[in-house]
Amino acid sequence: MQLLENAIREKGRALNSDVLLVDSFLNNQVDTALMAACGQAFAEAVRDQGIDRVVTIEASGIAPAMMTAMVLNVPMVILKKSPSKILNEGTLQAEVFSFTKGAPYHLTMKTAYVHPGEKVLLIDDFLAMGEAAKGAASLIERAGAEVRAIGIVIEKSFQPGRGLLEGMGYKIISLARVAAMSENGVTFGLADA
Ligand code: 5GP
Repeated sequence: MQLLENAIREKGRALNSDVLLVDSFLNNQVDTALMAACGQAFAEAVRDQGIDRVVTIEASGIAPAMMTAMVLNVPMVILKKSPSKILNEGTLQAEVFSFTKGAPYHLTMKTAYVHPGEKVLLIDDFLAMGEAAKGAASLIERAGAEVRAIGIVIEKSFQPGRGLLEGMGYKIISLARVAAMSENGVTFGLADA
């Protein structure tokens, strides 16, 4: 997606050779017009898939997932990263190793909002090692639903996430695919939408 690649080029910053900071339009501040365009692109890519629900991971998946769900006119479901202090009844959990934090956490999904037989579009902000998406997909499947596609705003193609998820049979729709990055800039591969 050209608009997204432009934003990454102009506003993204490589923290090191592995981590890309896009605080000003995705992680700390949200460029709503850009997220609306991401939503249109994801929705267009799954137009004939009969998606019942968009599922995402808090916090930075919410903005693009919300825009996509609005276009598809379906609900958006949020998977939580932080443990709940109140009732954990009716929830499913998966352990995920966080690439950015270097530590594991539990992803939690309320089963009331994902039902057997539903077709789900899973959306997240970044794809690195694939652990977050793998954990989220496992929760959706344990609830009896089907992951029709995994939509990623920014894929870092030099990390193994895409290969891992494709090897498991998932269809990946990445709006920007970062082939390489350094303090001198970012180079892109061919995006999926
Ligand atoms: P994975 O599980 O694929 O290794 O990592 C995906 C998750 O880690 C995303 O949900 C995102 O929150 C975070 N993440 C991974 N790489 C980056 C990065 O380069 N920049 C930012 N801002 N977040 C990242």
